[in-house]
Amino acid sequence: MPEKSVPMIPIVYGSTILPEGGDGLGQSFDPATGKVIAEFARAGERDVDLAVRAARRAFDQGPWSRMRPFERGRILQRIGELILERREDIARKECVDSGKPLRDAYWEVDCSARFFEFYGGASDKLQGRSIPLGPGWTDWTVKEPVGVSLHIIPWNYPFQLIARGVAPALASGCAVIIKPSAETPVTAYEFMKICQDAGLPEGQVNLVNGRGSVAGEMLARHPGVDQITFTGSVATGERVQIAAASHSVPCNMELGGKSPQILLADADLDRALPTILGGAFTHCGQVCNAGTRLLVERRIHDAVVERLHEAIGAMRLGAGIDDPDLGPLISLAHKHDVARFYDIAESEGALLLGAETPSAPELANGAFVRPALVVGADNTARIAREEIFGPVLTVIPFDTADEAVRMANDSPFGLVAGVHTRDIDTALSMAERLRVGQVWVNAFSVGLDVEFPFGGYKQSGFGREKGLEALAAYQQIKNVCIRHAVRD
Ligand code: NAD
Repeated sequence: MPEKSVPMIPIVYGSTILPEGGDGLGQSFDPATGKVIAEFARAGERDVDLAVRAARRAFDQGPWSRMRPFERGRILQRIGELILERREDIARKECVDSGKPLRDAYWEVDCSARFFEFYGGASDKLQGRSIPLGPGWTDWTVKEPVGVSLHIIPWNYPFQLIARGVAPALASGCAVIIKPSAETPVTAYEFMKICQDAGLPEGQVNLVNGRGSVAGEMLARHPGVDQITFTGSVATGERVQIAAASHSVPCNMELGGKSPQILLADADLDRALPTILGGAFTHCGQVCNAGTRLLVERRIHDAVVERLHEAIGAMRLGAGIDDPDLGPLISLAHKHDVARFYDIAESEGALLLGAETPSAPELANGAFVRPALVVGADNTARIAREEIFGPVLTVIPFDTADEAVRMANDSPFGLVAGVHTRDIDTALSMAERLRVGQVWVNAFSVGLDVEFPFGGYKQSGFGREKGLEALAAYQQIKNVCIRHAVRD
């Protein structure tokens, strides 16, 4: 039970705000302390149906889908401005709900604002094309919104992943339903308030909290939904694909990863190692594109392991709000899942460095683990192939650049990869051969990177988020073809 009254996160559709849903109440916990920080309404079948109807009505009757595109763009830009005005409040709430360090929460809010700036600016540039068929014919294409777009969100970047999908969907003229994770429902409601204050028409964005297996599943199967953007695990993504197939709607799948970072002996280690550590341990490794497989040229392997071991030993753990190097994992249940991989690593004959449960009394009730290195594992081992979603970096040596590329590609996933080298030919040749959606060279992140496309090969998913490419998921293309007289 909550110690005192905590905020209540409702279901919101059209002009209705429901404080309790047909599936009762859920609770959200601060993973740093285990305390309840909010309660939320969990949607049942009737709530799901009413939310889809509200979105349907908004889409079918307008005004959004019939507004001039530049007018839509202005409202999206306004959403971006309001996100920045409320930055402090949203970031602090996100920090407590998801456990991430405060600086990551600020990044999350700033990046969310960028999505609305970027797609707000794009909304009046969604042009079709004219297709030459010869005399007597006029033919053109029009991009039309796909309809009601469902966004199923994971718990690691709850606010940013709403913005990432919802901004291009709204720019395209769609109506939206958001289904946040039951672990992190808090900031989605702040997003709803911003949409309302920015003047977004009623029912254009709807919020359905609840359990994935209940509300999520019913939404994904609902015949009133026209398109699904899912971000989450491969296993759930497969269920959602089946649900989408049950009524033949398209979906975008943004799934997991086990992304390689390739470190060549000629790299500038003083630059590369902090980048590698950031790539692996940001938000306690709970990042889809975390670079959790470090492939190191054998002749620097031992020295690199030594330096990384020293660096992770110095990492400061704490509640996200104190902006530590590492916050907690999302929950005690997830801590248990991560710890299972320590046993797997050791049973596979690898050496585990770090990974202790911290002893400090102020961390005792939180889902804290110290970061870990796994050394001596083979690329075929489970510890090198499965997504752990925790602070565990597996280090594997290689002898030649070809072997490094082969190992990098020998994975069920293909989200991103990093290459660290001073040799531009090696970097470009690796970028050509890596089977991933994005290759970083001497970097692993750029910050407020909304401009370029992001998405996976193989089991990391399909479809693209971010950049102008993301708009395609929310549009259908209509072709108009006219036959007319030809006069001299
Ligand atoms: P998850 O798959 O457990 O849940 C994701 C969402 O799906 C939640 O909202 C959940 O309630 C909902 N859900 C669960 N069962 C459902 C069902 N049967 N039908 C419909 N919806 C259902 O994932 P998670 O644990 O919240 O997030 C971690 C995973 O997300 C990791 O695998 C990570 O790699 C992935 N992720 C991917 C990206 C990306 O862009 N590729 C970004 C962030 C996270």
